[in-house]
Amino acid sequence: MGKNLAPKCKQCRRLGEKLLLKGERCSTPKCAMLKRNYVPGIHGPKGKKRSSDYGLQLAEKQKARKIYNLMEKQFRLIFEKAQKKTGDTGKNFLKLLEMRLDNVIFRSGFGASHTQARQLVNHGHFTVNNRKVDVPSFTVKVGDVIKIKKASSKNRFFRDLGERMKKAELPSWIHFDATDLSLKVLHEPGENDMPKNVNVQMIIEFYSK
Ligand code: SF4
Repeated sequence: MGKNLAPKCKQCRRLGEKLLLKGERCSTPKCAMLKRNYVPGIHGPKGKKRSSDYGLQLAEKQKARKIYNLMEKQFRLIFEKAQKKTGDTGKNFLKLLEMRLDNVIFRSGFGASHTQARQLVNHGHFTVNNRKVDVPSFTVKVGDVIKIKKASSKNRFFRDLGERMKKAELPSWIHFDATDLSLKVLHEPGENDMPKNVNVQMIIEFYSK
C-alpha cells in the first residue's frame, strides 16, 4: 500500500484546519496552524484562492481522507462499499471508517495519531477475540474484544498505557478495561461519535459527479 509522505503540518495548512496528524504536538503551541495559519507557498498569507463548488467538495474529501490517513484508492473503495449497503450512504461511510481496527486504536488513545495507531497494528501488537490481527483495515464488530498481545505487553510503548488511559476520552462505543488493558466494542458508533469537522454530504456530491 502506498504512503502519504507529504509533510503533515503542510497538509493542515493547505486545508486550513487542524487535522491532528502529529499526535501530542498538535495540542501544543508548536502546532503550525497556530504559528502559520495560511497556505504554504511563496505567496505567504496572501496565497489562498477562492474555490468553486467542485474545489470545496474536493477539499472536504481530501480532508476526510487525511484525517483517516488513507490513500485515494482505499478511501474510494470504502465509499463504494457504503453505497452498496442499505440505508444512509453518508452514515454507512463514516461508520465503516470509524470501525477500522487502526481507527479504534487511535480513538481509544492507544495510539497518539492515526499513523502511530496503524503502525502498532501493522507490527502485530493486537489480538481481536484472542486471534492476532495485523491488518489495519480489519473491521471490528459489536462485541469484539481487542487486547495487546502477550509478547507485546512488555513493549516500552505499552508500559505506561494504564496511566495514559486515565486521561483518555473514549468514544461511547468503546469500553476500556483497566484490569487487562483491553478494549470492547459496545455498539456501532452513533452520530455523536462521528468527526464533527467532516461534511459527508460534500464527499457524496464529489463522488457522484
Ligand atoms: Fe496539523 Fe498542528 Fe498537528 Fe501539525 S501540529 S499536524 S499543523 S494539528
